[in-house]
Amino acid sequence: MAEAPSEEEMLKAVERHVSRPGAAAHLTVPGAAALSWQSVLECRIVRSVERRTERPMRVKGRRGAIAGRPTYTDLDTHPVTPPDDPGTARRVELVREGSPAEEPCGDCVDGKRECPGCAGRGGSRCARYVECDVCQGGPDACWECDGTGHPRTRRARPHRPRTEGAQERAPCKRCRRPDVACPKCLGERQLKCPACAGTGRAVCGTCKGAKRLRHEKCGGAGLFTVWTEGVITHTPAPDGIKPVYPPLTRLRADGAGRWHTAVLSSPSEELPEFLEDVQAKRIAPLLAETEGEVRRRVELRCLPLARVVVRTDPDRVYYAFPGAAGIEVIGRPSRQRLTALAWAAVAVAALVAVVSLTLLR
Ligand SMILES: [Zn+2]
Ligand SMILES: [Zn+2]
Ligand SMILES: [Zn+2]
Ligand SMILES: [Zn+2]
Ligand SMILES: [Zn+2]
Repeated sequence: MAEAPSEEEMLKAVERHVSRPGAAAHLTVPGAAALSWQSVLECRIVRSVERRTERPMRVKGRRGAIAGRPTYTDLDTHPVTPPDDPGTARRVELVREGSPAEEPCGDCVDGKRECPGCAGRGGSRCARYVECDVCQGGPDACWECDGTGHPRTRRARPHRPRTEGAQERAPCKRCRRPDVACPKCLGERQLKCPACAGTGRAVCGTCKGAKRLRHEKCGGAGLFTVWTEGVITHTPAPDGIKPVYPPLTRLRADGAGRWHTAVLSSPSEELPEFLEDVQAKRIAPLLAETEGEVRRRVELRCLPLARVVVRTDPDRVYYAFPGAAGIEVIGRPSRQRLTALAWAAVAVAALVAVVSLTLLR
């Protein structure tokens, strides 16, 4: 891997950048330029953190649900390969050898319980007959016998149709006279109960007469399966540092610069040579092995970068860094210069205001 350019090489590059024909700059002369290193460091870390936990399990029904699941005897030593990519989350559920058992439900008989709607009777008693809803079981049931079957004597009939011709009258089933009876009950005053169809027994709407219902809590199996479950999880844990970039959009936008890169995958691995001492010190605490860590990926990217201020040119700042073809130099207005420009703009605005006010007066 290429070594970082020296301070002198950086200054020489800036020198070439600022020199004009007939006005050669000499920046390596003491006091001619100030250089500070502002190398960019990117450090992205992702660890795979393993956790092992045991918990009691209880599900309804027979143990078919856990048949074929991998088993373990000692969770702490059970071998499990962590995911190749530490950024992948994974969860393994295991069954402790010998732990599965079936427990009776206790709240039902063979998975069934007495119907709460009918207390296990399948239905309830019901009146066989109901009053006729046309004649209300009253004297209109039959004008001859009032529904008794015994016709009146020859005295005047008290009942007449309420509205002439409003209702067809039917022959009475009781007294056998034509055209005198209620057309619905035919003189009988009552009708078969529609709920029980005259049987005197209504079927329970909850169990439809079955008397017992499936016990949902145990899934109708009448038992539960219990076991000890071991869970091994691998969870990605990201970490890293927030890179500080120089005010050069090119560096981030088109990825300019020849960056040093390295990928570390173990806590024992040496840090790459290209890191400056301050950078190595900064990231070292982040790279310590953490509890439960089983995999890691540390991506390091570094661009050596120098900030150079030329004494004779205080309005600009120069950034030098290794590029595709030698050291690249980019000049930017200095903050001092930007502040001065901002003040100039404020001054111009103030002047315009004063002038306009004077003219308007
Ligand atoms: Zn049950
Ligand atoms: Zn019922
Ligand atoms: Zn009924
Ligand atoms: Zn009658
Ligand atoms: Zn009737």
